[in-house]
Amino acid sequence: MAYTVIVDDLRKSYGSTEVLRGVDLRIETSSVLGLLGANGAGKTTLVRALATLIGIDGGRAEVAGHDVATEPQAVRRAISLTGQYAAVDEVLTARENLAMVARLRRLSRTETTARTGDLVERFGLGSIVDRRASTYSGGQRRRLDLAMSMVVPPTLLFLDEPTTGLDPRSRDQVWATVRELADSGVTVLLTTQYLEEADQLADRIAVLDGGRIVAEGTPEELKTQVAGEVVRLSYGDASTYEAALATVRTAGVAPDPALLTIDVPSDGTPESLRALLDGLETAGASPRRVGMHAPSLDDVFLTLTAPKQEALR
Ligand code: ATP
Repeated sequence: MAYTVIVDDLRKSYGSTEVLRGVDLRIETSSVLGLLGANGAGKTTLVRALATLIGIDGGRAEVAGHDVATEPQAVRRAISLTGQYAAVDEVLTARENLAMVARLRRLSRTETTARTGDLVERFGLGSIVDRRASTYSGGQRRRLDLAMSMVVPPTLLFLDEPTTGLDPRSRDQVWATVRELADSGVTVLLTTQYLEEADQLADRIAVLDGGRIVAEGTPEELKTQVAGEVVRLSYGDASTYEAALATVRTAGVAPDPALLTIDVPSDGTPESLRALLDGLETAGASPRRVGMHAPSLDDVFLTLTAPKQEALR
């Protein structure tokens, strides 16, 4: 199997804060990896290390066959950063923005015209190509940003929350575009807080927590690893809800104080359901309603990261 990213025991500290404490990660060529982690988990730090924007303290990382520490120039030639790192110039049109990138990447005039034409068509920019970017919608701007990162197709594309703030239709278009990029051979490292985005886009997901990758697999593998089912307990008043929370609070339990619901991982058997409800009844905390659903990526994330988050507080 070919890998575009190989990370072994990567370490990075800021002063006395150890942010990455031995990260091991592989990203298969032409696939999308979703990197998940709570705020401050170190996702940006890992991306910056792979993009050679910061140095590393230990371990090693290889991008497109080049070591980030000893061959940073070759790594930079193989990558492109986009998403929150948007490079679109508001004063220029889409055509001018694309031509600017082409000039920076030293394409000839003929190559630039041909490449711009291709990208305008591929990213659906035809109707706005000669309008200033300042007049674009969020979705149009995001598509132009992606097109600019493809003027010279990178081996590895970093995408940071590519669909933040987009309406569902624009979001679907951007997701489809990212999938096409991966199918055309680009490897994508996606960082996002939106688990639905990771679920839709990522071939595999890695969860960063406590400075290490604590789980890695396909979205489906991670969901089945967490629990067969999730039991949702719904309450009508805050005091019974609090009493229930005190009874069931263990790893993987996800309370929602606003909705007065508690999600509890379960194997889905009648015995475990009965034990759960009996325990609640004994504590005077019987729910008003009980429902069951298959675990979502949110459940996976909460199960894998919540207990350690609490320990840090
Ligand atoms: P978010 O989801 O909030 O963007 P993240 O997972 O990307 O978070 P990082 O930005 O990598 O997290 O930050 C990880 C930790 O490193 C945080 O505790 C942060 O405060 C710290 N950190 C990041 N950059 C620096 C820096 N230049 N100097 C000192 N500490 C830093």
